[in-house]
Amino acid sequence: MALFTAGSVERVKEASDIVEVISAHTDLRRSGVRYTGLCPFHDERSPSFSVDPTEKLYHCFGCGVGGDVIKFVEEKEGLAFPDAVEALADRYGVELEREEEDPRAEQKRRQRARLTELLERTAGFYASFLRDAPQASRARDYLQGRGLSAEVLAEFGVGCAPGTWDTVLVRGQRAGYSVEEIQAAGLVLKSQKGKGHYDRFRSRIVFPIRDARGRVQGFGARALLPDQKPKYVNSPEGELYSKRRTLYGIELARPEVVKSGRALVVEGYTDVIACRQAGLREAVAIMGTAITPEQVKLLSAYAEEAVLALDADRAGREAMLRAEAVGGKRLRLRVARMPAGKDPADLLAGGDGASANAFRAAIDAAEDLPVFHVHTLLDDADLSSPSGRDRALDEVVAVIAAMADSITREELMREVADRLDADPGLVSRRVTEAARGGGRRGAPESTPAEGSPPATEREPPRALNSRERRELGLLAMCVKLPDEGAEVLARLTEAHFSRPATARAWAWLRDHLEDPLAGLARDDAELFGYVTDVKLRADEEPASPEAMELSFLELERAKVDDEIAVAEANGAPPVELQRRRAELTERIARSQS
Ligand SMILES: [Zn+2]
Repeated sequence: MALFTAGSVERVKEASDIVEVISAHTDLRRSGVRYTGLCPFHDERSPSFSVDPTEKLYHCFGCGVGGDVIKFVEEKEGLAFPDAVEALADRYGVELEREEEDPRAEQKRRQRARLTELLERTAGFYASFLRDAPQASRARDYLQGRGLSAEVLAEFGVGCAPGTWDTVLVRGQRAGYSVEEIQAAGLVLKSQKGKGHYDRFRSRIVFPIRDARGRVQGFGARALLPDQKPKYVNSPEGELYSKRRTLYGIELARPEVVKSGRALVVEGYTDVIACRQAGLREAVAIMGTAITPEQVKLLSAYAEEAVLALDADRAGREAMLRAEAVGGKRLRLRVARMPAGKDPADLLAGGDGASANAFRAAIDAAEDLPVFHVHTLLDDADLSSPSGRDRALDEVVAVIAAMADSITREELMREVADRLDADPGLVSRRVTEAARGGGRRGAPESTPAEGSPPATEREPPRALNSRERRELGLLAMCVKLPDEGAEVLARLTEAHFSRPATARAWAWLRDHLEDPLAGLARDDAELFGYVTDVKLRADEEPASPEAMELSFLELERAKVDDEIAVAEANGAPPVELQRRRAELTERIARSQS
């Protein structure tokens, strides 16, 4: 994909209202020229999160996160840089320009954008047809009968396709699309006799399927009439829509999934909708029983774990076990044991309060997938004969051997010994052997999806210590009083700083004291974070030449402390250093008085 020009990225930042964007995640209060609030990246009771609406920067003085509005959307909404830029451009009406791209790719992209727009229009039409048309009363009755409210249906843009043969075709043509385009969007089919086209979805409830950014990719459609076959029709597989890559409801679930780190995976459209209505806002559907490697990859970008709440029949169980192979280490997969014959929509929306509670309880009690696997094997095994128990042992050993060493694993081995009436020592020996041999029966090794990089591991924000705060505080004063600051910066050395990162911020400021943020590479997240910190601190906190001198002495003393520690570690008596330290302590005391 072609990159956006630097100019258009700048325009996106310019047009974005950072206070509005961040307010969706934490309450901000105006304080002087700033806004402050509780940090949306770490837990805290008193606000140390600060937003500068003019510079369009945010920063947390507690955990050190910081950046611009694009960075915020990347971090908080789980989007890659280009997607974050596009999302903000859409929201604030900025036209993005791309670096020159090859004409064929450009044409393809434009064509795709046209088709997406056509799908969007059509989704709007279906939704208004469901809401208003007398002919859609059967669809409305059905959805109401499933306990789904008009509000939640509108949130998902659920619609209804009329029973006519060419309504969507004609509307599309009237909006300026060619028949070929309407066909490419998957909305019409060519008639058998070769002449003419007709609407693909007729007399059906339609569910717009969107990508994580909320762009319509296609539709799923459920039959409305009793004898209508097949019961479900989807958009054709193609460039826009691919069932394997789709997670229904991801665009609405994403913020909640990012926040909680957990996704709830259900089977069907109405399951997702019923979950959301019941307040389980992290639900997505895989549209079938088997989760695909592509879906696991997509989920692992937002979540650490996924709870599978799928059908409890044999096919459903097997599908969940296959997920073990595709899930790998990217995503912790857990299984909620569902009451047989009921789907989440029945339990949540249609049922009474008790069945909704049973559903929530099943989610809370979800088992790790390997544990579920072992339980399934034991449940299915013939434990009445020694040979049956031997076979079962072979099978469960392969699963347990692939698990990481843990208390769960220990407990599971004890349980297996108990249920197979075997010596715990035997089970444990067999598991150790199998783990060493890589599992002789082909244990489900966690093979990540082909060629895909591991999910990004982010270092959790940590609080700055007092020395780091002092270092950054001094740098901030240098920015605020640049005349004195330049002189102080020149007296400092790398050894005055406790971490390479703060030393890098010092080195940057020596050369960029006038305008610290200009020319700062945004992909250098660490330097960007610290310089942002310093810049925002400079506006926030008072500075004076005296305070700068005091901080300088404190940094100097910390440096001497480091030198004393090194000398002592080498067995050298640090007498001279101790004298220097005492002298500094005295000067610090004097300048404080
Ligand atoms: Zn924070």
